[in-house]
Amino acid sequence: MQVRKIAQELGFKRMYVVKTDTLDLWYSKAGEFRDTLISDIKSGYPYAKSVIILVYPYKPYAIYEPILSYYINSNKSYHLANEFIKKISQFGKAELAHIPARALCLKNNIGSPSRNGLLNIEQYGTRIILYTITNDFLEPEEYNEAGYECGSCSICVKACPMGAISDALDVHKCMRYHMETAMHPDFIKEKLSHFIGCEVCQSVCPHNKQVGIISPDDDIKSAFEINRLIEGDCKAARTLVGRNITSNGKLQAEAIIISANRGEIILPTKESQFEAVQDAVRYVGKMQK
Ligand code: SF4
Ligand code: SF4
Repeated sequence: MQVRKIAQELGFKRMYVVKTDTLDLWYSKAGEFRDTLISDIKSGYPYAKSVIILVYPYKPYAIYEPILSYYINSNKSYHLANEFIKKISQFGKAELAHIPARALCLKNNIGSPSRNGLLNIEQYGTRIILYTITNDFLEPEEYNEAGYECGSCSICVKACPMGAISDALDVHKCMRYHMETAMHPDFIKEKLSHFIGCEVCQSVCPHNKQVGIISPDDDIKSAFEINRLIEGDCKAARTLVGRNITSNGKLQAEAIIISANRGEIILPTKESQFEAVQDAVRYVGKMQK
């Protein structure tokens, strides 16, 4: 199929075409944080014949690196997904849809739920980025591709710095659900060790080991050099991870906090106009006392 070939050429390792049935699995705790997502696909996208799910796997950096490769790859693959849509639009209507991708996969027997609230699929574990694309020209297909079961494993339960995982994920406690804004609550600041998010549960998961680890390129290391960000020089880093998720001094504020949490309190030499940065300075100031 030509559409599949286009997906592969752009770096999407798997492509599924699924039905537009309403997602009953959507009624989960995560829904409270993702109220812009549409679970009733037929109402939200009445023209849709099916939903294409694109899977973009990525390799993580070592956990001691302050930047997570997920965010670099998320930005890169978002642009690739848009390129995919542009190319397949020759066949009919297609658009990036705001559908809960994990619930859509599970509803269509793709992958398995992990105890940390993510979806895992064979070969790539949870190291995947998913895109959902509604379209009016592809017929849906049936799948039966379970991922890995957690079984009695509780490694991530013990490793999570927020105590957010038990039998399932408590999204109210998970750091990733508090990353939308530049300024984070103090209970998040206390444990913040990586820019924009947290992947501790994924880095300890035995099902992710097969994916391996890579080193960030020099330009990424340079862009996320902590002193540079503390001084407010965030342009290169924001280009790499996307400007929308890093506005209002977010990276500068996080750099101040991450450095302090790693044992070195460094303050910017110039006062910032951003509330998040002022708040970070206040926060690490309290640590000095
Ligand atoms: S992302 Fe971090 S805070 Fe959230 S569940 Fe995983 S380890 Fe815990
Ligand atoms: S670490 Fe264990 S419990 Fe956690 S997601 Fe991986 S397999 Fe499941």
